[in-house]
Amino acid sequence: MPESPPPLRAPGMSRCGAIRLGLALFAFFPTLAHPPRPALADDPRLAVRLAPAEVRQGGVSVLSVKWSSPIRGLRIQVGDREIAAPSPDGRSRWVVLTGIDLEQRPGPLAIRVEAVDGSGRPLTGQATLRVLDARFPVQRLTVPRPFVELDIATLERVNREKALLDQVWETLTPQRYWRDPFRVPLDGAGPAYGFGLRRIINGEPRSPHTGADFAASAGAPVRAANAGIVALVADHFFAGRSVILDHGLGLYTMYFHLQEGLVQPGQRVERGEIIAHVGSTGRATGPHLHWGARLYGARIDPQELLKRLPLD
Ligand SMILES: [Zn+2]
Repeated sequence: MPESPPPLRAPGMSRCGAIRLGLALFAFFPTLAHPPRPALADDPRLAVRLAPAEVRQGGVSVLSVKWSSPIRGLRIQVGDREIAAPSPDGRSRWVVLTGIDLEQRPGPLAIRVEAVDGSGRPLTGQATLRVLDARFPVQRLTVPRPFVELDIATLERVNREKALLDQVWETLTPQRYWRDPFRVPLDGAGPAYGFGLRRIINGEPRSPHTGADFAASAGAPVRAANAGIVALVADHFFAGRSVILDHGLGLYTMYFHLQEGLVQPGQRVERGEIIAHVGSTGRATGPHLHWGARLYGARIDPQELLKRLPLD
């Protein structure tokens, strides 16, 4: 593989997008399928609310479930994906972030909540999230084949790295580590670009760009977007040196193409703490920060986390 890829970057195009080609590196989180259940009437004792109820692909909604009398066995399902629900004991509500994968089909997405009341009778609550088409830009490129094809050894490496990341997304920490709002991971950063960019290389659709890229100088400090635990420090083929933070309740943020990581797996980091410096490691055409986020496996726009998230 040549060291220096050709200058493929068009104005406004993702720097990662130019060359991070090929495989569905960040494939969809395996969904948790359940057999169909008999339809039950909604019970007014179990109220389900979404704010907002309309979300673009890659967006985030706050899901709240309230119950007016004791329940047990709470289960929450968003589409065909189950999200962690706590033991209802000692609570009267549960509020959690729900993410819409950037490739979720536009249209209605059913939210179904189930529980059992004190007498053992089933309760259900439902809501519908309307997924809007984000109309992500499409980038068409024609590039020499050697730049889009990986040799066998590299392909095996990429597959190993993908499996490792999938293990991270499947690990759901049952508590939330953060309280304060999320922040941009760079000081004085301009707007990020490139989230959701759909790439068609030599006529073939490739995996979309799953992060937001920030222009930055090599060596600029990269700060934790919020409090969390370091889930992974790695040096991967596409992502280069990378740090992934677990913020709890299925939410992860990731920081790619770093010069080096300054943190260790398992370490607790605070919001704004310097965790690395900007670099251009992995498949990057120059120094920049690729900031990504996963929420219960859904590939969301990390900039959605900067909005007001009324969780308390
Ligand atoms: Zn990127």
